[in-house]
Amino acid sequence: MTAQLIDGTALSKKLRADVATRAAALNARGHQPGLAVVLVGDNPASEVYVRNKVKACQDNGLHSVFDRFPATLSEADLLAHINALNRNPTIHGILVQLPLPAHIDSHKVIEAIAPEKDVDGFHVANAGALLTGKPLFRPCTPYGVMQMFKEYEIPLQGANAVVIGRSNIVGKPMALLLLEAGATVTICHSKTRDLAAHTRNADVVVAAVGRRNVLTADMVKPGATVIDVGMNRDDAGKLCGDVDFAGVLDVAGFITPVPGGVGPMTITMLLVNTIEAAERAAPG
Ligand code: NAP
Repeated sequence: MTAQLIDGTALSKKLRADVATRAAALNARGHQPGLAVVLVGDNPASEVYVRNKVKACQDNGLHSVFDRFPATLSEADLLAHINALNRNPTIHGILVQLPLPAHIDSHKVIEAIAPEKDVDGFHVANAGALLTGKPLFRPCTPYGVMQMFKEYEIPLQGANAVVIGRSNIVGKPMALLLLEAGATVTICHSKTRDLAAHTRNADVVVAAVGRRNVLTADMVKPGATVIDVGMNRDDAGKLCGDVDFAGVLDVAGFITPVPGGVGPMTITMLLVNTIEAAERAAPG
């Protein structure tokens, strides 16, 4: 069997076209949707992510503000800046690029963002709302994965789903969204005793670890759907995921490539969350 590829680039294009249409409708009513992206310091990977996010906004009719600060910025000054963005009516979404420099408490900063502008969905109010089944914003990466299941009509109700990784930004919200969709969910992590025993029984596996070859062909049930969230570099410095793609391709039913899978979907869902925030804020 050769798995069908889940094309995140093509799906992103389709969803971004819808964002652009909704942005044009808001603009026509005099309500330009706006996203503020805040970067502290000069982490090269963060700079690339931030520039891609700002460009995606510009390409799809959203107004974006890129607020860049030196690594020496104090926590108090960052909190004051976030408060100003919270009060700014032209800004509907606020994204603080993580990681922040060590002297700044990321938790405090995320909690300072107004929940109705927390388009990353990381604020405790939004995490709690997701847990109780009434999310205002779904975190972008797992939300993007859910769009992939929908587009490719992958059945989740009653499916055995295994999420590898339990981070607050990917693993845990991914598990909650799968649970909401009716899957029977198992969350695995670094302390899991026999990862393969769990994944071999799974109809759906989402790998979100950050380590190459966490999932190999012998660990996958024939015909399963495999979603690779991981972003790593191989020995040649090329971008790769957590999954042994070449091996698993022969066993799985559906698989996401890296690059061109989950990556573009994450930015797309940031645009979707921002447009939703702007629509909620627009009167009438
Ligand atoms: P993270 O916070 O480092 O979490 C990694 C998780 O993997 C942890 O829960 C850890 O378990 C678990 N883990 C580590 N080694 C393991 C092993 N050998 N077996 C099973 N589980 C193991 O990372 P993250 O922020 O969730 O991101 C995960 C990956 O996704 C990274 O490569 C990141 O770059 C990528 N990512 C991609 C996108 C995208 O748009 N494509 C977006 C976000 C993240 P413990 O909790 O026990 O330590």
